[in-house]
Amino acid sequence: MAENLLEIKDLRKHFNIKNSIFEKKRKILKAVDGISLEIRKGETLGLVGESGCGKTSLGRTIVKLYEPTSGDIIYDGKNLTNLNFQEMKSFRRKIQMIFQDPYASLNPRQTIGDIIKEPMEIHNLYDKNERDKKVLEILELVGLNNTHMSRYPHEFSGGQRQRVGIARALACNPEFIVCDEPISALDVSIQAQIINTLEELQEKLGLTYLFIAHDLSMVKHISDRVGIMYLGKLVELAESDTVYETPLHPYTEALLSAIPIPDPDISLKKERIILEGDIPTPINPSGGCRFKSRCPKAFEKCQIVEPELREVKENHKVACHLYNKV
Ligand code: SF4
Repeated sequence: MAENLLEIKDLRKHFNIKNSIFEKKRKILKAVDGISLEIRKGETLGLVGESGCGKTSLGRTIVKLYEPTSGDIIYDGKNLTNLNFQEMKSFRRKIQMIFQDPYASLNPRQTIGDIIKEPMEIHNLYDKNERDKKVLEILELVGLNNTHMSRYPHEFSGGQRQRVGIARALACNPEFIVCDEPISALDVSIQAQIINTLEELQEKLGLTYLFIAHDLSMVKHISDRVGIMYLGKLVELAESDTVYETPLHPYTEALLSAIPIPDPDISLKKERIILEGDIPTPINPSGGCRFKSRCPKAFEKCQIVEPELREVKENHKVACHLYNKV
C-alpha cells in the first residue's frame, strides 16, 4: 500500500458568529469539527456531502487558506499546522487548489499566459524565457494551446476556463491538489471531459487529489476511496466500490438512493430514501448524533451519545451506533 502524503488529525475549523444584542450565548459555527483522515500518495480521495456540511472549509483549511482552530495537518511527514507564512512558502508550491467557479477565481484583467505565470513569479521559478516555455507546456497538458495564451478569461467557455484554473494550479509542479467542486458549475457534457483531463494529469504527473463534490455520482469514477461528510464530521470512509455497493451509514444510503438512473424501468423499481426532519445547523450543534433529526433508523442512544468514526470492517470506517457491535 502507498505511503501517506497527507494526514490530518482531529482537525477543527470553527468560526465565531456575531450575536444579536438579545443573544447572550456565544455562537460558534463548527464547519469542521474533529476530522481525522489520511490521503495516500497518488490516490484520489473523494469527499462528498450536502452544501454547508463543511467540505469546502475542510479543503481550505488543509491548504491553509483558513487557519485551523485546532488539530494537526501533516504533509509528507512535516507538521504544517503552526508554520508561519515564510515557512509555509515551500509547501504552498506543492499544495494547490482548483476552485469551483473558475470565472470568479481568475483575474479578468490578466491574460491566460500571465495568470499561469504569476505563481511561477511568486515562487521564483524559472527565468523569463523558461516561464513562457513552461506556460505552453502546461496549456498543452490541460488541452489548450499557444493561441490561448494572450486571451482573457471572458473569451473562454466555462469548460475552457476550468482548464485555465487547472493550468494555474499546475504552474509550480504541485504534488497534491484540492479540487473543490471543479465540475459542479459546468454543463453535464463538459463534466466528463474535465474528469478525464484530471485523471490523465494524475497519471502523467503522479498527482494526489482530494476531490470535493456535493453528490456521489460526481466522484464515482475518479475516486479510489470516498469519505462522506455531515455537519462538520466524517461519517463514513471506505474504498470507492465499497461505499457504492455496501454503504453502512444511513446518510450514505440516502445519498446513493438519490443518484438518478438513466434507465426508466430500473429507476421506477429503485427505492428512494427521502430524508425527513429539520436540516440542523452547524452553529452550536446539539448533543448526540448530528444526523439524528433526519435519520430513519435513529434510536434512543442517538439522541444522547455522539458516535465516533470507527473501523467496523476491514478498511471501512463508519460513525453510527448501529455498528457498535459488528
Ligand atoms: Fe442514525 Fe443513530 Fe446511526 Fe446517527 S447513530 S446515523 S441517528 S442510527
